[in-house]
Amino acid sequence: MSVSRRVSQEALLAVVTAGTAYLALSPGLHEALHVAYNYAFTGGHVAGCGLGPWTLDGGRMVTCFAPGGRPALNALLTPVTTALAGVGLMWASPRARRAGVRRGLLVAGAAAWLVQSLYGMGLLTPPALDSHGVTVWGDGIAALGAFGWPAVAPGACVLALGALVLRRRVAVRTRDATLWAWK
Ligand SMILES: [Zn+2]
Repeated sequence: MSVSRRVSQEALLAVVTAGTAYLALSPGLHEALHVAYNYAFTGGHVAGCGLGPWTLDGGRMVTCFAPGGRPALNALLTPVTTALAGVGLMWASPRARRAGVRRGLLVAGAAAWLVQSLYGMGLLTPPALDSHGVTVWGDGIAALGAFGWPAVAPGACVLALGALVLRRRVAVRTRDATLWAWK
């Protein structure tokens, strides 16, 4: 096999791995964690609302909570736990045998870590379309409403931890002088 063919195969493998692994974490793991925390906090109850405990609201997939749980704590813990799983994926990515898989897992882990920790801190919330027009709502906003500013602390810790792990997983090079030429 030619070198260029092998390089493009690994690049394709990286893209497919990154996409699959990212979807597995978010929404996959994220929404599963909502159900697991709700199950734990209610002493064994799961809500039913369409697609099992899940439904679509304003174009976004959401988990319905069985009443009696602790929805604000659930909203605080779920994105932070998902972000931690992203950090774990970045940390474990060098164990994959294929170069494309290694790179794909690193990219998926980094994306899940960054998006979920910022979302959990209420700083990155996708807009939703509903009968009120364009609105923003999400786990981090709910946690901030319930606990105030201390709710950003877990997300900030995971943000810092992930930055350290990512820094150890990438090579740093100085910027090519020609890239400054446009100035
Ligand atoms: Zn959520």
